[in-house]
Amino acid sequence: MNHPHLRQLIDMPNLAERSTIQSEKYSMTTHSLYWQQLPKVLLHEHLDGGLRPQTLLALCQERNLAVPASDAATLAAWMQANANSGSLERYLLGFGLTVAAMASAEACARVAYEAAEDARLDGCVLAEFRMAPLLLEAYGMSGEAVVEALLAGLALSNLPCGLIVCGMKMDSPEETVRAAQLAARYQNQGVIGFDLAGPERGFPPALHARAIATARDAGLGITCHAGEADVGSRVLEAAALGATRIGHGIKIMDAANTAQQSEWLDQARGLGLHFEVCPTSNVHTGAAISLATHPLHAMIAAGLSVSCSTDNRLMSGVTMSHELQAVHTENGVSPAQLKVLMQAAAGATFMSASVRDQALQEINHRWES
Ligand SMILES: [Zn+2]
Repeated sequence: MNHPHLRQLIDMPNLAERSTIQSEKYSMTTHSLYWQQLPKVLLHEHLDGGLRPQTLLALCQERNLAVPASDAATLAAWMQANANSGSLERYLLGFGLTVAAMASAEACARVAYEAAEDARLDGCVLAEFRMAPLLLEAYGMSGEAVVEALLAGLALSNLPCGLIVCGMKMDSPEETVRAAQLAARYQNQGVIGFDLAGPERGFPPALHARAIATARDAGLGITCHAGEADVGSRVLEAAALGATRIGHGIKIMDAANTAQQSEWLDQARGLGLHFEVCPTSNVHTGAAISLATHPLHAMIAAGLSVSCSTDNRLMSGVTMSHELQAVHTENGVSPAQLKVLMQAAAGATFMSASVRDQALQEINHRWES
């Protein structure tokens, strides 16, 4: 890292917290270390949902923001209790605090850098992070300033990583076009894709067709949250607009009847759609009842291109290692299948072919299942 001021601001992961976990649950930790050392590809993580609790606390204190807890562990517990509500709308409430806390270039760079470092230390060999930069306009930051700070933070890490710019579905079509134009402006400087995020019901992807077209025509990768809280047909709607990847998309397994189900699956397979599934987040938002009954296993069995990601590490209290371990132990996905999922994630990356090939090589050579 070559930025002395950032160096001062950024702390290392909370090693004391980790050693407590290790001493309490030795066998569990041994298992976690197995997943931690495997080469993983993270495609779906929101920077404003992945702050280290101690960083969120520090940033709130710097900005004199009211915090619902006075220590990092209690703050993390509060975030997770709020997120684990069974409602996507309630899940999204915690972002009010994280976004307000990130409203400076320094904070954006710090959060981005720490997310990349956390992913690297967790064994990721490639990661894509995302955020809606225009959310910070309400706090006096321009979209350009946010994107530049996030890219500067990511660039400080040695992990190959890129930024996906999100537009928010509840915003007007003009606003999401503006977000897409912003993404296009930084295409060759670390922005690799465009996404539509936020509450899903009442805000179908087609409302933002122009934004998707703007980003697609600029040559950016297109992903879109769809079929998470709303019906499965939203997945194919997003694909028809140009999305090649779908955030979650698990409701594609909930067709009204077998004929519709096979038609949906045929289309998704035919298009080569890749599903960025985030199982724990799905349970927390109520999109899935439990990890045991999560449709991930069924999606794999149906021949869809699927991977696993964290979505929001702070809100859901997860890491990539824990997420993979959890779907193995609770959803019955084998380590060999998870290797295929990570290969699919690498294949679906919006980053360069050389970064993709390097990640694939790591997975092929180092994933022992
Ligand atoms: Zn998401």
